[in-house]
Amino acid sequence: MLCLGELASSILVTWLALPSIEETLMTECIYCGLDKEADQFNTLEHAIPQFLGGAHAPDRFKLRTACDECNRDLGLFVDGSFSKTWWVTNWLGTLWAKVYATSKKAAPLTWLGLTTLRLPEMDDGDVCEAWLGPLGEAVFLVRAKSERLYWYAGGDPIWARNKASKARAYFFFAKNSKLDLELTASAFLGSFRRQRVKKVLASELIGADPAKFGCKEPDGLDRARIEVLRHEIAGGAISFGVPVNSTYDQRFMCKLALGVGYSIFGSRFLRSPYTKALRDGLWNRADESSPVRGVPALAADRIFGPVTEFMGLDDAVCIIVQRVKDEVCVVLNIGRKLIWSIVMAQSDIGASTLPAGYEDGMAIILFPQLAKGLVLTFPDFLAHQLNAVGSQQLSELQLAASGPKKAN
Ligand SMILES: [Zn+2]
Repeated sequence: MLCLGELASSILVTWLALPSIEETLMTECIYCGLDKEADQFNTLEHAIPQFLGGAHAPDRFKLRTACDECNRDLGLFVDGSFSKTWWVTNWLGTLWAKVYATSKKAAPLTWLGLTTLRLPEMDDGDVCEAWLGPLGEAVFLVRAKSERLYWYAGGDPIWARNKASKARAYFFFAKNSKLDLELTASAFLGSFRRQRVKKVLASELIGADPAKFGCKEPDGLDRARIEVLRHEIAGGAISFGVPVNSTYDQRFMCKLALGVGYSIFGSRFLRSPYTKALRDGLWNRADESSPVRGVPALAADRIFGPVTEFMGLDDAVCIIVQRVKDEVCVVLNIGRKLIWSIVMAQSDIGASTLPAGYEDGMAIILFPQLAKGLVLTFPDFLAHQLNAVGSQQLSELQLAASGPKKAN
């Protein structure tokens, strides 16, 4: 039987040992770092975003620890900033272009940028973008200018879905279009899918039904604009520029490091001061003293030199997690040409403890255009790259991704 003094101290010990009720019900969001209630985590977070093929990464990279608010806002402002940038949007497009015939997706258009054209009834709040079809078709999109997301291909994606959007797109066939009208139709039909855009076929092709290309009959305004565009195209001097935000990738790479780092190291990753620095980078709070280090795509060739060649594959997205001295880095490579890297974790969280079997690094290889992905150890990936011992599964995916012509 306990005496009162013992009981009091035992209650005290129990009370100290028990986490508070609040603590047990709260989850820390990996991105904002706030402790939130369970009902604030309703969405599946892909640590590797879906536009890079993250849905086909192993389950450990699919998380329930990003709050709904972060999931929503970071998709628009951080993933979007990266994926809608000129070179990322176009380079990902090249992956899809090769497999359009076998995938169920449309052939992509290439984004040329913003023209200086002023078409009838365009005011200062409008811009005219130029796109290129797969066989050289010209596409002009007149839409509202976006001040906050000026470097996004297609403009502000939220506004683009808005009912008040008065966007109109004009499609011109190229000489080569008649060689493969199915390809042209696929590109026209699939373009601007998630946007409210009136599509108009601006050139005539005998026997071609505008509806087959997803287009509507032109009205008076369309006819007036088409006339100006025809004149400009014939003149051959349409000038356009690419809007660039030089820091488009910084927040994105911090987010990728946070998602991949948590997927690999679990909750101890969240306790590291370096993780806090990654969060500062994600939320634009980082200053010059930030310990976060990374290499942007445009400097990668200079930094990595010939190694760049071995960190990626022509038709895939590769994410390499690798130990470098006592740190762990993430390298992102799109189609071998675009490469970014960032330090993901430092020695304080035991960087030597990469998952079992992957102690020497991990290569996550994704083919979003094939809805496939696989993981190799980094040494196996390198061996494959050097043709020493190839991975058969990877070779088959590479063949499929190279398009139907090469596969035959
Ligand atoms: Zn959050």
